[in-house]
Amino acid sequence: MLGQMMTQPLLISSLIDHADRYHGRTEIFSVETNGTVTETSWAQVAENARKLASALTKLGLEPQARIGTLAWNNRRHLEIYYATSGAGFVCHTVNPRLFPEQLTYIMNHAQDRVLFFDATFIPLVAALHDQLPEVQHFVLMGPRSEDAIAQIPDVQFYDDLFETGEASFQWPSFDENTASGLCYTSGTTGHPKGVLYSHRSTVLHSFGSNTRDVVGYSAMDVVMPVVPMFHVNAWGSPYACAMSGSRMVLPGPGLHGDALVELIDTYGVTLAMGVPTIWQGLLACAEQSGSKLASLQRTVIGGAACPPSMIETFRETYGVDTIHAWGMSEMSPLGTANHPLARHLTLPLDEQHKIRESQGRPCYGVELKIVDDDGNDLPHDGVTQGDLLVRGPWVLDSYFQMQDEELLQDGWFATGDVATLDPDGYMTIRDRSKDIIKSGGEWISSVELENIAVAHPKLASAAVVGVPHPKWDERPLLVAVRAEGENPTEQEVLAFYDGKIAKWQVPDKVVFVDALPLNATGKILKRKLRADFENTLNA
Ligand code: AMP
Repeated sequence: MLGQMMTQPLLISSLIDHADRYHGRTEIFSVETNGTVTETSWAQVAENARKLASALTKLGLEPQARIGTLAWNNRRHLEIYYATSGAGFVCHTVNPRLFPEQLTYIMNHAQDRVLFFDATFIPLVAALHDQLPEVQHFVLMGPRSEDAIAQIPDVQFYDDLFETGEASFQWPSFDENTASGLCYTSGTTGHPKGVLYSHRSTVLHSFGSNTRDVVGYSAMDVVMPVVPMFHVNAWGSPYACAMSGSRMVLPGPGLHGDALVELIDTYGVTLAMGVPTIWQGLLACAEQSGSKLASLQRTVIGGAACPPSMIETFRETYGVDTIHAWGMSEMSPLGTANHPLARHLTLPLDEQHKIRESQGRPCYGVELKIVDDDGNDLPHDGVTQGDLLVRGPWVLDSYFQMQDEELLQDGWFATGDVATLDPDGYMTIRDRSKDIIKSGGEWISSVELENIAVAHPKLASAAVVGVPHPKWDERPLLVAVRAEGENPTEQEVLAFYDGKIAKWQVPDKVVFVDALPLNATGKILKRKLRADFENTLNA
């Protein structure tokens, strides 16, 4: 016997319809590419999305045609998110920080038919134009621009295209498993691979992230996703915020600390999200400017391990609660978020703080396990570490156009992370499996060593990599950037490890550099560090 309840497909258009109907007057602030700020609302975003969807439909594209974007977090990008998926096309956000060869590979592999781009990327698109034969419409996200016409003769303009559509457009209904969005992984090895989200997975992910112990967006929040809309859909916030009717601040191209501090203070941001490197810059600027970040209540930090010292600074200096979260493109991206359990509240404060340092526990919809090299389950004792496997309704099944490859292990996806799990499901990422340092048969977590180093007051940032060693195979090398105006010695930095970890885990050497190499999503490029310093201990 079947249940006798209504069956409505979980479609992305239902999210924007909801925001339109019940949160229509709620403001969206958007920093445009030219630096001006536009104030719009969910009702306006919804109307513009319908109009754009109508215009795109009139172009005669095939169903689920991929529509690429090279764009910052701004209101037109938000309209494109809803217009494309809502009309039955696939929103393909492309990371503009990738190398030109990767960009053409990705857009050709995806067969993008339309490419929307911000003015920042006019020269980039002009350079790639002739290598993108599948793209039929190059659309600048703005009004008519002579500068763009001079560089891209067949360029079209968002604001003109949009006028060819009708706001009375009705969202079509279709199977909730239809593809809705596409993101390529940064591809540290081989070609980038596409993760093809569905309407169903996106809506379920929004429900999941909207539970209280994950992000739990609220209609009371002013949410600023600093994480780019081209990086796993800004962690799903454009969808989840429509579901909850949150106000949004879309920070545009200027992601340096002082611009972010000003946005937080001007618009009363309550909840901001991004990778640790972004917050490093923001905290330094807040300290200089004397801002107390008074409105900010919560930060969601993930994408790379959040150093405990950062959580502490947010808590002690600014009264901000950090939700340390973990996920990946293949998981839409949310996997775990760190919130306490009721029984933790009776523990001494420092123990409570300690619990908040890990990547947290999974919400309903995500299952985790760890296995050994032979795929055997390992205990969830908080100590044993193993390869982390996941499954759930918003975890990928196969990569885009790579369905033949057997990806899953008995229905589980191998994340490539090495982790411990405790009996409550709190997970600690020890490393990416390729970054863990194998010293004489023992494993050393580079994350743990980095967390200690960045807490050193005289260091601005730090990375630890394993480099070849004649006796131990590999030993940890600390690559550090000195804080401004400071000049710590190697001994001083290494002494900071005393009593914090076992002696044999302490890095063998410190190399000071001016800056750490970052990849397209702001994560430290360890591959490059390993190559640059390969012979440091072998000589
Ligand atoms: P991406 O798909 O580019 O978002 O990268 C996902 C990977 O980033 C994960 O598999 C982890 O290795 C890493 N990652 C994400 N969040 C965290 C976190 N909170 N702590 C440590 N590593 C993280």
